[in-house]
Amino acid sequence: MSRLIVREWSNCVAALVLLATVVLTGGSGASNRNETYDLVIANGRVMDPESGLDAIRNVGIRGGKIAAISNSHLEGKHTIEAKGLVVAPGFIDLHEHGQEPRNYEFQAHDGVTTSLELEAGTADVDQWYARREGSSLINFGVSIGHIPVRMKVMNDPGTFLPVGDAAHREATAGQLQQIDDEIEKGLRRGALAVGMGINYTAAATHDEIVDVFRLAAKHGAPVHVHLRHAGLQEPTTGLVGIEEVIAAAAATGAPLHVVHITSMGLKNTPRLIAMVKGARDRGLDVTTECYPYTAGSTQLESAIFDPGWQDRQGITFKDIQWTKTGERLSAETFEKYRKEGGTVVIFSIPEEAARAAVADPLVMIASDGMPLTGAKIHPRGQATFSRVLGHYVREEKTLDLMTALKKMTLMPAQRLEKRAPMFKDKGRIRVGADADITVFDANRVIDKATYEEPLQYSEGIQFVLVNGVAVVKDGQLVDGVFPGRAARAPVSQ
Ligand SMILES: [Zn+2]
Repeated sequence: MSRLIVREWSNCVAALVLLATVVLTGGSGASNRNETYDLVIANGRVMDPESGLDAIRNVGIRGGKIAAISNSHLEGKHTIEAKGLVVAPGFIDLHEHGQEPRNYEFQAHDGVTTSLELEAGTADVDQWYARREGSSLINFGVSIGHIPVRMKVMNDPGTFLPVGDAAHREATAGQLQQIDDEIEKGLRRGALAVGMGINYTAAATHDEIVDVFRLAAKHGAPVHVHLRHAGLQEPTTGLVGIEEVIAAAAATGAPLHVVHITSMGLKNTPRLIAMVKGARDRGLDVTTECYPYTAGSTQLESAIFDPGWQDRQGITFKDIQWTKTGERLSAETFEKYRKEGGTVVIFSIPEEAARAAVADPLVMIASDGMPLTGAKIHPRGQATFSRVLGHYVREEKTLDLMTALKKMTLMPAQRLEKRAPMFKDKGRIRVGADADITVFDANRVIDKATYEEPLQYSEGIQFVLVNGVAVVKDGQLVDGVFPGRAARAPVSQ
């Protein structure tokens, strides 16, 4: 007896389509032979964190959507044999700064089907999307970024992060108005969220921050924020940083998403997660994310390395790796490279903090992947998702597979679906959902990228579909396909 697993549908049309699908795929095997799907994923272990389905099923795909989920045979023009493999919703990465074709190739190999730059964001939402339409391997999306908007308005000479006035000067009344206008324009143009990195725009007043939250609340957009403070030194701890934004969320009604909670909290990460949980328990829409590593990464010229950084972060020169060469820094090379500008890897996060965040069902997985600018960049953009599945789920048994998948698929989709309803059809294996699907070998999946050799594809991700089109087949990238689409909130004008 074939059976469709269907959680919900929102209107009569969907119900009728569903009924037709049930008739065509259910009952006798004979009717299945009349129904040909574009593609069938056969005999895989289908895992859907929303319905809890964890069983051997055949998945029929048509027109870029999941059209049937059945335990009887489905006929397809093409068939992927998935016996022994897990069939999961494609992974949604809420935090990826590397948004170029080569990044997308690494991410596809890591099981990512939707890559989003929501922390730094952009100052020009239309241009950002236009540059990727029709030429992207995976789905893509962006926030309107307080950092780049502040850099634009204050004529900051920095490239990715501010190094001049946007980092170090209070905005004038006129500049504040321009910042707010630009952010509101970005929201009207369909930005998925508002991005903030208060640590990088350290001179932004608390008033300025609250005003940005107010704009986000007006448009129902979550604020994805890198906190003003990180680390353990009072009065600039990660806990103080999270207090500022939880207060802003509570007072304005804006949804809040705290990025990379481990590099903010360090040893105190469990206490920061407890703040998120406490806020949620009292009815606030607050979420968070982590990457599964003990190092962070950022720009050496940024305000994070303004005087006093050693005490604030509890690290010293030798804990910092210069990505262009892989060397650890000294007082001399710190000064030299800070003037030159470039990406560093910062070894500052205790393993217990990384593990606590990866294990916590409340904390989503997001890579914080970086542009591929140096020889020894951080491996997280290339390998975060396989590292959670291979190292933390299989090897360390830190968390179970379904919980891990939920943190990579359903939870990020739910984070965005109020602002961008298209995410209701992502992060799920459900009839009617987008056919963004990752098929992997749970016994073999593992990260290969390291701090020494960061440009290595993850292994064990066997098939990746984006809107029904294979971008990874038998563990190999497929050439010349660009099925990625814009993940965007409705454009209001
Ligand atoms: Zn950050």
